[in-house]
Amino acid sequence: MLIPTVALNDDNLMPQLGFGVFQVPDDGAHRAVAVALEAGYRSIDTAAIYGNEAGVGRAVAESGLRRDDLFITTKLWVDGLSRDGVRPGLEASLEKLGLESVDLYLIHWPAPASDNYLRAWESMEEIREAGLARSIGVSNFLPDHLRRIVDLGGTVPAVNQVELHPALQNRETIAANDDYGIATEAWSPLGQGAALADPAVTEIAEAYGVTPAQVVLAWHLRQGRIVIPKSVTPARIAENLGATAVDLQDRDLDVLDGLDRGMRTGPDPKSFNG
Ligand code: NAD
Repeated sequence: MLIPTVALNDDNLMPQLGFGVFQVPDDGAHRAVAVALEAGYRSIDTAAIYGNEAGVGRAVAESGLRRDDLFITTKLWVDGLSRDGVRPGLEASLEKLGLESVDLYLIHWPAPASDNYLRAWESMEEIREAGLARSIGVSNFLPDHLRRIVDLGGTVPAVNQVELHPALQNRETIAANDDYGIATEAWSPLGQGAALADPAVTEIAEAYGVTPAQVVLAWHLRQGRIVIPKSVTPARIAENLGATAVDLQDRDLDVLDGLDRGMRTGPDPKSFNG
């Protein structure tokens, strides 16, 4: 199965559809990532706070796949948000993953009560220059946080990974990402499963003879977003990959666009400080 790639602003290519392992314990992540790599995924999204980088690393090592064919993302937790916290945070993640570098390192949350994300960004640039991360980016950054990073005058984040699904379409943040040339990556792209029961989604799925998850993922993909759906069920892991073959018509994309309810599944980046 051919997974399309997105060209990031640093010219690195990132698979548009990857595999997420939030809330999967270490052993489960080992099993699920092995299934995902076997099914054809090449991009894996983990984070220090998920506690499963070692499991991800074992599955990667056992896959026999070439490192160059994989795209591994992990994230710096808020306790590492400082000038001196970034490199040790990444080194601890690399040790668990069993890798010499990641393809994408993200600041997990801006945690805006302090301005620490600004200080940490300068260290993010250094770890990229040191070759420990091929691309650097952010997660859960609102337009104002992005503006302050861009105003530093250094590297513009390659990616902003944000909560994004039919019930929370985050349009202002996507517009800011687009303005700055930052790729939008959708976390909880299925609304943690809630989007799949929406009658508007199930009706479209029936009309195309595909599944609700494939409809929602195809809607994201058509808009150029990166998606990282999670499942620990082998059949669903494979099913979600099938979204790349679904070509939705404009009127169906419009129906999904109309489902925005401003409903978060996770914390609000404005006030979440870890
Ligand atoms: P998701 O939207 O991917 O939904 C996952 C849930 O949807 C599964 O647990 C399962 O119940 C259901 N599901 C998945 N495929 C299905 C299918 N084909 N049919 C029926 N049900 C299906 O939610 P998520 O796990 O929260 O988000 C995906 C990834 O995003 C995470 O694993 C993680 O890597 C990342 N994430 C990042 C942040 C962040 O702050 N940066 C926060 C949350 C998640």
